[in-house]
Formats: sequence, C-alpha cells, structure tokens
Amino acid sequence: MAGLATAGALSRAGWQVTLLERGERVAAPPTALVLWSNGRRALESLDPDGGWSAIASPLPDGGVRRPDGQWLVGPRGRTGAGPAPAVVHLEDLYDALVAGLGDRVEIRTGFAVTTVRVGRRQRPSVSDGRTFLEADLVVAADGIDSPIRRVLAPESVAVGSGFAAWQAVVPGYRVPRLTGEQAAGGETLGAGYRFVSIPLGERAAGKGGVYWVATAAGAPRPESPATQLALLQRWFASWHAPVGDLLAATHPEDLVPQEVRELRPLPRAYGFGSGPGGVVLLGDAAHAMPHHLGQGACLAFEDAATLRSLVADVRPGPDLIAAIETFSRTRRPRTTSVVRQTRRMSAVVQARGRLALRARDAALNHMRPRILGNHTQLQADWTPPD
Ligand SMILES: Cc1cc2nc3c(=O)[nH]c(=O)nc-3n(C[C@H](O)[C@H](O)[C@H](O)COP(=O)(O)OP(=O)(O)OC[C@H]3O[C@@H](n4cnc5c(N)ncnc54)[C@H](O)[C@@H]3O)c2cc1C
Repeated sequence: MAGLATAGALSRAGWQVTLLERGERVAAPPTALVLWSNGRRALESLDPDGGWSAIASPLPDGGVRRPDGQWLVGPRGRTGAGPAPAVVHLEDLYDALVAGLGDRVEIRTGFAVTTVRVGRRQRPSVSDGRTFLEADLVVAADGIDSPIRRVLAPESVAVGSGFAAWQAVVPGYRVPRLTGEQAAGGETLGAGYRFVSIPLGERAAGKGGVYWVATAAGAPRPESPATQLALLQRWFASWHAPVGDLLAATHPEDLVPQEVRELRPLPRAYGFGSGPGGVVLLGDAAHAMPHHLGQGACLAFEDAATLRSLVADVRPGPDLIAAIETFSRTRRPRTTSVVRQTRRMSAVVQARGRLALRARDAALNHMRPRILGNHTQLQADWTPPD
C-alpha cells in the first residue's frame, strides 16, 4: 500500500519511478481496512482524482460490548473534525492505487530486494543478489521485515506483540440475517480476546459483505486454516450474536491469519543520505505497530503525502538530501506518538484474569473515551503538507 501510494504520487509529481515487488504480482489480501480521518486526508492529498469516496463506506460506531452482549460503551456517534472514518475493501483500494500509477511507473515484479548500498559519494542502490539498481531516491516501503531497514537501522527489530489476529470478509451473499443493531457491527472485548465486525458497502469488491477481525492473546497457530477457523468458532462460541454466525459463515479460504508484530525500538531515523540523494523508510518498514487503533496504513499514507510534498520539486543534490532529513525529522515524532497510543490500547485488549478484567470493564467507560479522544486528536492533528 505504502509503495503503491508513493510511486503514484511521485510519478505524478514528475519523478521517473521504478516499483519493485518481490511477489509475482501486485495483489491485495482479501480483507479490508479502516481509513481514519488522517488516512483519508492523506489519500485525498496524494491523488485528488483517486475516487476514494466511491470505494469507501462510512464506519458506523457500533460501541463496545462484553462477550455476553452487555454494553461496556454504547455507540456515541461521531466526534471530531475532518472526513468521516470509513472502511474500504483492500481489493478496491489496491485497484485505485494501481490505477493511480498510470503508465509512467515501471513495475518489476519477482524482484526481491536483499540488500541496499549507501555511501557518501554514491547514489543509493538496491539488489536482489543478481542485479544492482541505482536511484537518486530509494523508498523502502517493504513492510515490517524490510531488508533495507535491517541494514540502515539494525537497532530496530520486529518482535511479536503477544497476539495472533485473523481477518476475513464474509461476502454479501453469505452474510447471515442481522438485526439493525447487529448490522452496525462493533467491538467485543473478552479475556485476552477481541472481535470486531464492520459492514462493508454493498458494492465493496463487487460483492459487499462484512469484514471481521478476531484477536487472541498468544502465539500464531500452526494449524491449517480450516482447523484455525474451527478453533475460532470454539473460542467465540458463547459470545453474543452475531459473532458465532459470522464465524459460521466464514470459509477457511476467507481467513487471513497473522502474527501481530511491531518494531522495537523504532528506527532512530527514517531518512539516510547517500550521494546526491538517499533512502527513506516508510509504512510498516519504518513504524510497524499492533493493529488495535487501525493506524498502520493511515500513517503509511501520511508518510507518502509528506514525502511527496518534500521532494516534488527538488533536484538531486543538497536540496534532496535536506528533504530526506526533513522527512525523518517530521515523521519520527508523529509516528512515535501514535505508537504510544497504540500500546495503551494493547494493554486494554490484553487484560486477562478476573481482577484485571473487572478493573478494565469498570474503567473502560472513562478510559475508552480518553483513548479514543486521544485517537480522535491524533487523526485531527495531521493535515497534509502543502
Ligand atoms: C489484523 C490487522 C488489521 C489492521 N487494520 C488496519 C486498519 O484498519 N487501518 C490501518 O490503517 N491499518 C491497519 N493495519 C495495519 C496495516 O495493514 C499495515 O500498516 C499496512 O499494511 C502497512 O503497509 P506497507 O505498505 O507499509 O507494508 P506491507 O503491506 O507489508 O507491504 C510491503 C510490500 O513490500 C513487498 N516486499 C516485502 N519485502 C520485499 C523485498 N525484500 N523486495 C521486494 N518487495 C518486498 C511485499 O510483498 C509487500 O507488497 C492492520 C494490520 C493488521 C495485522
């Protein structure tokens, strides 16, 4: 996502861009994503003609419940300024981002970058072990396991956050019958378990449906998707409707299991000069974090919008080097503060044991608005650079 968004924006700004992807094709996972106000603003500023409103549907506030269905926090309606948070199917998002590449970006799939070279007197270059490609600017948007970050910021390591997550989209034609309240989706918090469901727009990925994310404390499961789905059905069996119905309507091939991981510590810098230009880290390569606030991709789009505005009219040489330094200086504090908020939310989700749960549930009414208030502030705080 971060790479596609940046490649499109830089090529529209006049840069000659080569997009490297290790996979055989650029393909979206069959899941969805919440775009908070900041993510929507970033996408709009990256490509005002991207048609984002057409592919995103409003995110209802379904509140927070206990597994028995009792409200912990009722739906409160939306607060805060800026574009309303929305949910988008990743297939639609990728299609729009790929369309934004136009025919100016050279796409090289099957190119797995294994290393990067930088130096005071040389342009940065990357290699797949056979071919070296040189550029004025290398944008490392290669995710949490970024080999480029490993070379340039070895202090930052991907570690497990103590959770496993499962995502799926139940296509519209398989969604169980839902009451009005159930159709709004929402979040349910149990002891070390969390389930979130969000209705997608009717035309999402051509079939609409409901997107859900389940999170459980512990390591990722080694079993087959069918066995993992059976496990989820067992873990969530006594949860309020429609959790069990949504799991029953899910097929093993819909399931996207994942270990939740994060970078600790964050890299000391996101920009590294090399010759007349340099390398920047963005998206999960720079600041992967747990998904509890759903900000990873939104921040990646902020990164892309910031980079575009800093380098759009800049030539290789001192100005480009200065732009790379400014990118790092601007994005590091911003992403650090979102990571801090996310870790607070992790503690809420992670609560286990009777006493911890009772304290959490009692406090949630006060705590969640504060966390969400801070989150709303985090979204509002960011505006696209000119
Ligand atoms: C369960 C879950 C729910 C989430 N929900 C949300 C949400 O609602 N909202 C939100 O904003 N964020 C959410 N996130 C976070 C979001 O998914 C990530 O932050 C986002 O995918 C990061 O995008 P990226 O482009 O930086 O990295 P990736 O999506 O990891 O993309 C990296 C790309 O680089 C390629 N690549 C990797 N290594 C190489 C290499 N060596 N050579 C060449 N190519 C390479 C990969 O194939 C891939 O295409 C969620 C995450 C999880 C786990």
